[in-house]
Amino acid sequence: MQRILIVEDESALAETLAVNLKAEGYRTIIASDGVSALDLAASERPDLVILDIMLPGLDGLEVCRALRKRTDIPIIMLTAKAREVDKVIGLEIGADDYITKPFSMLELIARVRAALRRHNKDIGKQEVIQSGDLTLDRASHTVTISSVDVDLRPKEFDLLTVLLENKGRALSREALLRQVWGEDEYIDHNTVDVHIRRLREKIEDDPSKPKRVLTIRGAGYKFAP
Ligand code: CA
Repeated sequence: MQRILIVEDESALAETLAVNLKAEGYRTIIASDGVSALDLAASERPDLVILDIMLPGLDGLEVCRALRKRTDIPIIMLTAKAREVDKVIGLEIGADDYITKPFSMLELIARVRAALRRHNKDIGKQEVIQSGDLTLDRASHTVTISSVDVDLRPKEFDLLTVLLENKGRALSREALLRQVWGEDEYIDHNTVDVHIRRLREKIEDDPSKPKRVLTIRGAGYKFAP
């Protein structure tokens, strides 16, 4: 479940981008100014940022520079003028790509896909995640334990994916809600607990004494390192 942070103060364009990206299976987060973009980049850990240059306060070039200091995720700049293109190319701001307004959604989505593909290749993000005898395959959406298929429902699969990607790190219920369900679904913390319970019933030898998905008191859950 890849998450894209859209940084754009024109709310109509931001919404259009979000709708189109969601239709492609991405989760989206919208920031309407540079400062909240940096906050959300830190708290939500998106996989890619679409960043408009013209923003109130901190502009896109400054946001890009600040992001680059702490992350190597792909950044696609939105520019409105040739002069801005020159800046993106000429200054060492570290953007991966840029697209000039107006642009077609097809074009943008193609750029997003390409940037994510390049990045995943660079960091060697595996299609298959393994932990002991448990194997999760993103491409085929399957989970096996000692080569035996585990029948997971889509949300259980997403939940397990997020836990495995952050193996050894405690994730709060809020973080799991955001990463698995997104922001626009009306659900509460109980949903996370219910899904964790169902997941344990399927992947733990003894669900009452979990060895894989651990409860971290006061913090949330983590996949055992
Ligand atoms: Ca703008």
